[in-house]
Amino acid sequence: MTPLGDLILAQIDADGPMTLADYMALCLMHPKHGYYATRDPFGTAGDFTTAPEISQMFGELLGLSLAQTWLDQGAPSAFALAELGPGRGTLMADILRATHGVPGFHAAAQVHLVETSQTLRAVQAKRLEGCAPIWHSGVEALPELPLFLIANEFFDALPIRQAQRSGDAWRELMVSRDGASLSPALSAPTLLPMLTHRLEDTAEGDIVEFCPTGTRIAAQIGKQIAQFGGAALIVDYGDWRALGDTFQALRAHAAADPYADPGTADLTAHVDFEALALAAAPAQHTRLSTQGVVLERLGIAQRAQKLADALGGEARSAHVAAHRRLTHPDEMGTLFKVMGLYPEGAAPPPGLVS
Ligand code: SAH
Repeated sequence: MTPLGDLILAQIDADGPMTLADYMALCLMHPKHGYYATRDPFGTAGDFTTAPEISQMFGELLGLSLAQTWLDQGAPSAFALAELGPGRGTLMADILRATHGVPGFHAAAQVHLVETSQTLRAVQAKRLEGCAPIWHSGVEALPELPLFLIANEFFDALPIRQAQRSGDAWRELMVSRDGASLSPALSAPTLLPMLTHRLEDTAEGDIVEFCPTGTRIAAQIGKQIAQFGGAALIVDYGDWRALGDTFQALRAHAAADPYADPGTADLTAHVDFEALALAAAPAQHTRLSTQGVVLERLGIAQRAQKLADALGGEARSAHVAAHRRLTHPDEMGTLFKVMGLYPEGAAPPPGLVS
């Protein structure tokens, strides 16, 4: 057992089994032993790779979509250009480079990053030197300005709770002691008011997941966009409504046991975009589109060709493979989805449809 595992066992002995959300939060974000607090997990040497680490085209095209939305809303003279969970800072760096030529955009933008990991904040500071980013631990601290925000693979890292239908009640998955190790166990049936609407579309034994933190964050962003203007692009794997067990652990690019060696694997769950859209009202939400389709609508084919013209040999093959990886249905193209948030009466961000 890892040191964090011992801490979790001690907490269970004192307080009883814990929700999956409490377990995930400790594993990912414990300030000393948490997964994100102790490492830079990205890239081929790490546990997983994300779209901005695969190709610069991802951030360039989505950044231009945000900049066009800023122009469509009258180019407000001061706004927050914000990212949730910026990882290595690559996505924001690509957005800033691509939008350099948009007149007035950089002068009006204040870069705000929401990041809890001190380790990753240091990586981001290096990468984004020169644009004076301001860090926050939560979205509540974002300034009262038009908000143009991006979040890639952020919501899937937020702690979820999971429950199994039992009559008109739910048995919640609780992380429990099993000898010297940890294992999931179901609670006695209880009423969970936040799942009342799921009694309509589930049957006995079905598993549903919900993400209280994600709902709270979407509500805050939606409120701010409705009040001050702006837009949000949310990119993640998941679907319009969550059904079934999607909780998973990844270590060194392979599936792992999420209850073994807490703090050493990335823990994620699919994102329920419907829950985020409902929470973000009164902001409007776009339809959910696949990442492949959105990037095509934004002109990835032309951008890929332009970049390829300047490349030869292995660099060119790597670039072609990266383009395929971002857009092809067998790769990230359909698993990943994009949803936009925008104010009532405004146009949806380019690449997305209302
Ligand atoms: N967007 C990046 C990184 C995705 S990984 C990319 O596409 O490469 C998830 C990121 O969210 C990490 O930077 C992690 O430290 C951060 N994170 C996870 N949970 C968080 C929380 N509750 N609040 C703020 N940041 C969080």
